Amino acid sequence: MLTNDQLSKWDRESLFHPSTNLGQFARGEGAQRIVSGAEGVYITDRDGNRLLDGFAGLYCVNVGYGRPEIAEAIAKQARELAYYHAYAGHGSEASITLAKMVMDRAPGHMARVYFGLGGSDANETNIKLVWYYNNIRGLPQKKKVISRWRGYHGSGLMTGSLTGLELFHKKFDLPLAQVIHTEAPYYYRRQDAGMSEEQFSAHCAEELERLITAEGADTIAAFIGEPVLGTGGIVPPPKGYWDAIQKVLARHDILLIADEVVTGFGRLGSMFGSDHYGMTPDIITIAKGLTSAYAPLSGSIVGQKVWDVLMQGSDEYGVLGHGWTYSAHPIGAAAGIANLQLIDKLGLVENAGRVGRYLNDRMRAALGDHPNVGEIRGEGMLCAVELVRDRDSRGFFDAAEGIGGKAVAAMLKRGVIARAMPQGDIIGLAPPLCLTEAEADAIVDA
Ligand code: PLP
Repeated sequence: MLTNDQLSKWDRESLFHPSTNLGQFARGEGAQRIVSGAEGVYITDRDGNRLLDGFAGLYCVNVGYGRPEIAEAIAKQARELAYYHAYAGHGSEASITLAKMVMDRAPGHMARVYFGLGGSDANETNIKLVWYYNNIRGLPQKKKVISRWRGYHGSGLMTGSLTGLELFHKKFDLPLAQVIHTEAPYYYRRQDAGMSEEQFSAHCAEELERLITAEGADTIAAFIGEPVLGTGGIVPPPKGYWDAIQKVLARHDILLIADEVVTGFGRLGSMFGSDHYGMTPDIITIAKGLTSAYAPLSGSIVGQKVWDVLMQGSDEYGVLGHGWTYSAHPIGAAAGIANLQLIDKLGLVENAGRVGRYLNDRMRAALGDHPNVGEIRGEGMLCAVELVRDRDSRGFFDAAEGIGGKAVAAMLKRGVIARAMPQGDIIGLAPPLCLTEAEADAIVDA
């Protein structure tokens, strides 16, 4: 077996890590952790640490680590049929079965699921489908896409543009011209004094309508949003938000894409965030929880309205020229089937709602009165603690202090992984959906 020193050296010299300070890492300064194994909600590393993973990897290992049912399904699939493509009507028992299982769980007005690899490529697919849709309808000008500040939709060219966080734009010449951003539904920071949640939702809807009118509704194709803002700070929508937004979109013939990469398959205590908030999206993005990250797989669930136009397009123009080599990969599909079966068998959607509420309640009881805690918020198995210099003014700590990062580092010393969210001093928690109350206690205690 390689020594830790050898691995560490190779890592610093060979691997180009995503979302990392490259200079620090190369110089041997930045954090480095070589993860060697995992079981349940715990990961272990090469330095002998055992850590409670309060972020389920990147909010994706929803059923927890080390599930033999999924490992065996993957191995069996690899032996029988590791790969065949899905182009031109080809398929495998696994990919077809998973499609049926996804559609059985999706909201009733959805028509088909297209499988990709990760959340970013699924959202790239979505935007191409939306453009195709408007071209087929004879509306070639209707192409811009609106997303929210603080939204996260991936880090491709289009999806990095849709992402409303400066970190993902900086020095990449993003956002692209077809993308515009609107108000984040971030009641704690964006409300005017004394506004109720409903009033703030109405304000967000008015801002959206103002933007649409200024740009021209005939130039705007779609609005994309996560049911609960995730990477932008774990921010559940204020009361009435989705209802108000959907009314504006309907008035202007603008499609709604619900990015459920984090919320899909149970994280909010409902199968989909769309069910949870009464949304009727035209397209739903899925990834992470689809396979609990045992293999890469994502999907675009397309609603009947869009599907009907795609059918019309294929009658007029033939083959839809869009596909990845690994679309509907059989191994990803086998992982997805075993994962969804496990979610049902263990009642993890219900567990996410119940234990998630317990985690949020306990966090509020423990820290709600702390002078440097501005807000504790969450929904289902998501929880955020926002730190402030003082509660009354909601003042920020100096960015240089990096207090969110320090808080997360302190939790790590106590054996719990949380995530310092990329903008603001926000401690994010998104544990596996199988979390127990005792494990939730351990997180709060840390
Ligand atoms: N959409 C949302 C809501 C996400 O949270 C993420 C990733 O965190 C993505 C899209 C991008 O997914 P991926 O990193 O698999 O490309």
